Amino acid sequence: MEGQEFYCPKCNHSLVNRESFCPNCGQKIIYTDSVEYQEALKAYQNSGWAKTGKFLEKTGNTMNNAGNSMQKTGENMTSGCTAPFVILIIIVILAMILF
Ligand SMILES: [Zn+2]
Repeated sequence: MEGQEFYCPKCNHSLVNRESFCPNCGQKIIYTDSVEYQEALKAYQNSGWAKTGKFLEKTGNTMNNAGNSMQKTGENMTSGCTAPFVILIIIVILAMILF
């Protein structure tokens, strides 16, 4: 991949020397042809999170509605931090059933 130009995903600064970190904003850069990326991608694809991601795309609007409901429910809950965690578990369970 010599000569190929990369850009920081955060600030779009050009990365000509395959810097590990963006010299402009300090964002950590993972190159798509690197071992680190390939391993992360493999782990991601094997984890079921890829399927969960597709599921999330389809149900984005539903989740927005659910989020509003959860917000109301959250007012009645003692811990507001519990709501997002509960949503996450529901998503994972639904994804496992449907795919
Ligand atoms: Zn940057």
